[in-house]
Amino acid sequence: ATPTAVMVATGVGANHGVLVKGGDALERAQNVKYVIFDKTGTLTQGKATVTSTKLFSGIDLGDFLTLVASAESSSEHPLAKAILDHAFHFHFFGKLQSSKGDIKKRKQDIFSQWLLEVSEFSALPGKGVQCLINGKKILVGNRTLISENGINISEEAESFLVDLELNAKTGILVAYDSKLIGLMGVTDPLKREAVIVIEGLKKMGIYSVMVTGDNWRTAQAVAKEVGIEDVRAEVMPAGKADVVRSLQKDGSVVAMVGDGINDSPALAAADVGMAIGAGTDIAIEAADYVLVRNNLEDVITAIDLSRKTFSRIR
Ligand code: ADP
Ligand code: MG
Repeated sequence: ATPTAVMVATGVGANHGVLVKGGDALERAQNVKYVIFDKTGTLTQGKATVTSTKLFSGIDLGDFLTLVASAESSSEHPLAKAILDHAFHFHFFGKLQSSKGDIKKRKQDIFSQWLLEVSEFSALPGKGVQCLINGKKILVGNRTLISENGINISEEAESFLVDLELNAKTGILVAYDSKLIGLMGVTDPLKREAVIVIEGLKKMGIYSVMVTGDNWRTAQAVAKEVGIEDVRAEVMPAGKADVVRSLQKDGSVVAMVGDGINDSPALAAADVGMAIGAGTDIAIEAADYVLVRNNLEDVITAIDLSRKTFSRIR
């Protein structure tokens, strides 16, 4: 391809919201053999909603939701946003409707009056969050987080979780003062175009792989829905780059598509890193492509564009 052809292709891409950083990245995309997709926010909409709650030890639902939302209030994770939204609607839907002014500002005002004070907050990537509320430790996250803290997960809790997970939902466990006090089921629907894109890649001779920090059962249920056979679940954030490297071992060209929440090292490790959607700043920096429309079809657009631009010299 001539420099002019590369320039034209770059422009065509930009018109479709496919931003490529340089001719090398544009050239590499033609030979992609594997596309690894992050699950949350990439294959899924990243707009999770709480669908069920189960409470133990007689705690009131309102109190439970206040505790959990307070613990999650400093987290940027899509699951945290789902929990905050749910708690907010439970407590304040009517109040919000009847107040006046900018909706975001009103929400913030209500939040600041209502959330409990939190100290020693820490986000534990791939696991959840922990902090102190009223001097007692609260943990919100997956089984690993709860077990690591030596807290027992009852059979009743376990069967509730399994049931959620078999239905492609993510189970969130909540422990307070060293006891499991409740569970929440969260669903994050697939992007509308996800199935068709995986099918399209297959027709192009490209294998799709899903990687996620979520548990095996949920991951497999989602993968089945979207038509991906190769699933890597319960992968800690640092492990996502290892998945990239393991597929590169035989010299295969590997693309990674992610939103940058926990997957920037994988975007950087890939031969072709594609940041999708709003994309965090780190993601945009780590990636070779930025897919600004947040539409998975642009993965195909990017590979197509490379193939068309470089096919003559192959
Ligand atoms: P993904 O790979 O799907 O983007 P993450 O690596 O971000 O997932 O998280 C893996 C798992 O860790 C989640 O499925 C969830 O169980 C738990 N987790 C992570 N962050 C949080 C949080 N803020 N609140 C509750 N659970 C969380
Ligand atoms: Mg993610």
